Amino acid sequence: MKDSSIFLKAIPIIETIQQHGYEAYFVGGAVRDYFLHRPVHDVDIATSALPNEVMAIFSDTIPLATEHGTVIVRYKKEQYEVTTFRKEEAYIDFRHPEKVQFIRRLEEDLKRRDFTMNALAMTSQFEVIDLFLGKTDIKTKLIRTVGNPDDRFQEDPLRIMRAVRFISQLCFQLEKKTKQAMRRQKEKLAYISVERISQEMDRLWLGPCVSQALTAMKELQLFSVLPGAKWMTDTIILRFDGFEQCETVEQAWTLFAYIAQVSNLSTFLRTWKFSRERMKKVTILYEGIKAYQDASFSDYDRFRLGKTFLLDVVRLYAILSNKKVETCIRREATLFDALPIKHEKELVITAKEMIEIVQKKPGPWIRECQKEIIQGILDKKIENDYHTLKEWINRWHQH
Ligand code: ATP
Ligand code: MG
Repeated sequence: MKDSSIFLKAIPIIETIQQHGYEAYFVGGAVRDYFLHRPVHDVDIATSALPNEVMAIFSDTIPLATEHGTVIVRYKKEQYEVTTFRKEEAYIDFRHPEKVQFIRRLEEDLKRRDFTMNALAMTSQFEVIDLFLGKTDIKTKLIRTVGNPDDRFQEDPLRIMRAVRFISQLCFQLEKKTKQAMRRQKEKLAYISVERISQEMDRLWLGPCVSQALTAMKELQLFSVLPGAKWMTDTIILRFDGFEQCETVEQAWTLFAYIAQVSNLSTFLRTWKFSRERMKKVTILYEGIKAYQDASFSDYDRFRLGKTFLLDVVRLYAILSNKKVETCIRREATLFDALPIKHEKELVITAKEMIEIVQKKPGPWIRECQKEIIQGILDKKIENDYHTLKEWINRWHQH
């Protein structure tokens, strides 16, 4: 079933622009997804009106990137990106177009778009303007550049990453000439910032056809031009289907680092310029798999990781060792649920109380003592009850 609700809601925006004498259409990913019967989340509108003209028409607008032609129009609690038809000229350093030229014709605007499936426009009457046979490519699930593929990838090499990301998300294939050009132009990805490449990878990881996308990347030897994965082309022996069983981007990046046999994880993480939070998560998962593989976990390891990380580690371990993910996870979840203490917060005695009991200045001894208590509780040698712990701490202190 096609999901037209979001377009219907936005019709008044298009019609209002038209009433002021300009053209306006639905464009981009929303139109593509509509014909793919995929859920549509946000619609983009392209118009012949200039940004200041759009702002003059609507009362509630936010100039988002007016130099690129985009104004946000707020209407009935929704936000719409309304972008002036534009033509992009000569890219500097392959990064940004030297100048964006606003134009009054839809055709030119559609021509600058990356792939035929993304170059459809649709009127408020749901009539499609399809200048590059995008609908046929959608039907046959083909990713094909608008115009000469070598030129288009040279202009903006990020499109190479967008193409593989779309393989993963849409389960499409690369049209032959598009694929050949990607192979020829892949070195130009070196001009694209790591952040933009990793953003595309994040989307790729979670697509339903991630292994198809990775297989294409391997065939095209794209790994050798990615930051921090240069060694992968040769060493990788791999089956990519494990990535289909990852549920989060952190799991996928960990699996990627593991399979790629990175020599130094923190260098890998820094090369990809991840956020501190992501670096921390991936490091925990990565170290976790290593520990799990050496010897299975102790209850203290389970406690220390916490349920979420524990089950993530077990998932990755199962993927890497070809075991059934669900079975391994169920087993570990049962073991975790049976722990007599699952989180430090459950300790009935606080650090402040510990200081009062032993009458000693705070210091590293607190952590050490807590660690021993927890270990004792996990081993079922100590009960997590205030008086027992108080006595235990006193004895520990005099020891
Ligand atoms: P998604 O559904 O993931 O948002 P999308 O196709 O909508 O995918 P956006 O990045 O939101 O992708 O871009 C909106 C539209 O802008 C695209 O459909 C395409 O027409 C055009 N576009 C985006 N990036 C590029 C690019 N690098 N080169 C050419 N056209 C682009
Ligand atoms: Mg989009």
